[in-house]
Amino acid sequence: MIVLKFGGTSVGDAEAIARTGRIVATRADRGAIVVVSALAGVTNALIALAEQAAKGHLIGALRAIEDLRERHLKQAEILLGPGDECDDLCAELSAMIDELAHLAEALATLGDLTPRSMDAITSFGEKMSSLMCVAAFQRQGIPAVHVDACEVMITDSAFTRAEPQPEAIADACRASVIPLVRDGKVPIMGGFIGSASGSGVTTTLGRGGSDYSASLLGAAVRADAIEIWTDVDGMLTADPRVVSGAKLIDQIAFDEASELASFGAKVLHPNTIAPAVRLGIPVFVLNSRRPEGRGTKITFDAPKRPVSAIAGKNDVTLVKVGSPRMLLTEGFLRALFEIFERHRTSVDVVATSEVSVSLTVDDPSRLEAILGDLRALGDVSVERNRGIVAVVGGAIADGGETMARALSALGGVRVHMLSLSATGINLTMVVDDDQVKPAIQRLHAAFFGAAA
Ligand code: ADP
Ligand code: ASP
Ligand code: MG
Repeated sequence: MIVLKFGGTSVGDAEAIARTGRIVATRADRGAIVVVSALAGVTNALIALAEQAAKGHLIGALRAIEDLRERHLKQAEILLGPGDECDDLCAELSAMIDELAHLAEALATLGDLTPRSMDAITSFGEKMSSLMCVAAFQRQGIPAVHVDACEVMITDSAFTRAEPQPEAIADACRASVIPLVRDGKVPIMGGFIGSASGSGVTTTLGRGGSDYSASLLGAAVRADAIEIWTDVDGMLTADPRVVSGAKLIDQIAFDEASELASFGAKVLHPNTIAPAVRLGIPVFVLNSRRPEGRGTKITFDAPKRPVSAIAGKNDVTLVKVGSPRMLLTEGFLRALFEIFERHRTSVDVVATSEVSVSLTVDDPSRLEAILGDLRALGDVSVERNRGIVAVVGGAIADGGETMARALSALGGVRVHMLSLSATGINLTMVVDDDQVKPAIQRLHAAFFGAAA
């Protein structure tokens, strides 16, 4: 079996969906299972309209909902042409849009947007796109069958960033996905969405979570491969939007790909690799606009290079905790990290000295409460407007030449914090937020040659 995931741009409109169908057709005899994202830009639009509705701007929210209706129905009509199939699909999509409008009205009345209602709203993107893909693929002669992601992707109830429950997912796959494949069918499922174990209430896996859905599904069915189809040729030596001459990486090790994803390479959701790694399932990143390309293969046995790629991310918060008492105090770090754990906030980069700890967080939503608790441990300071650049490669620590080259490439860019992972594959530097882009460009030029 093979799991194929198509991102938003790969199903952005009727033409893209048809192209996606042609790719699926080439894999149908290998036991394909398909995961699709919402049409490009739809999740952003849903989040914006949910916020608008909760602020009481119902007219604006309803107008945005009507735009979504028009877009989905128009693409459905192009895909299927006039006829009963098209009418059935349009009726289903329209009923979903009506439901969305009712939710928006409820939000406007309540004036409150909980993570649970946010998930109820954002799930509509994948619910609609998956139905459209099923109808389009059937039209192309693919024996596509819709599978409700809420019945397969069982999670906890941490709305907007739910934790999947792999055993429950595997059970659901044994019951409803694998039998379809054995029957020669091609199951199609929306990514990103799931449902809370026990209550069945809709959850989501966090932004970009369709990659994660694909990899969870791949692990649950013990797939031979997971293919992530996107809008670039594979994993590149940097984000091509930042470095125009970024080069394709043919093969990369799981741990390096995982570091890149965590430090800003949006091409993969940061959790995508973990379920595949445990079973050694290769993950391929491929371009749906150029399916003939080789893409990137992510495996255990990829060749080791000093530097594979440069990544970076913005909007990082740096927290420093200084405590003269820290010196020789057992349990200090445990107490510190427990605070972050209690507030379900993950820490990215850490550096310690005898009397202080510096760390970065991506998600500042619980920062005030965290800072309150941290003050019991020592003096706390916070630096917002920071960013991270990461140099990732299999042999960064070997010799020290790579590190020296990285630091000299940064020239005048101020580095607030520096950390080399214990495995020696990730050199991360915290810089000013507005320096992330130039820092990536300079590092890329130093390691891969000048780019335009
Ligand atoms: P999808 O909708 O298919 O999930 P995303 O927009 O989430 O696509 O991810 C693809 C984008 O990731 C690319 O268009 C590219 O700009 C960005 N990206 C960031 N870093 C990298 C990288 N190292 N290699 C390839 N793409 C990258
Ligand atoms: N549609 C969701 C998002 O935009 C999930 C995904 O595309 O992976 O975040
Ligand atoms: Mg994505």
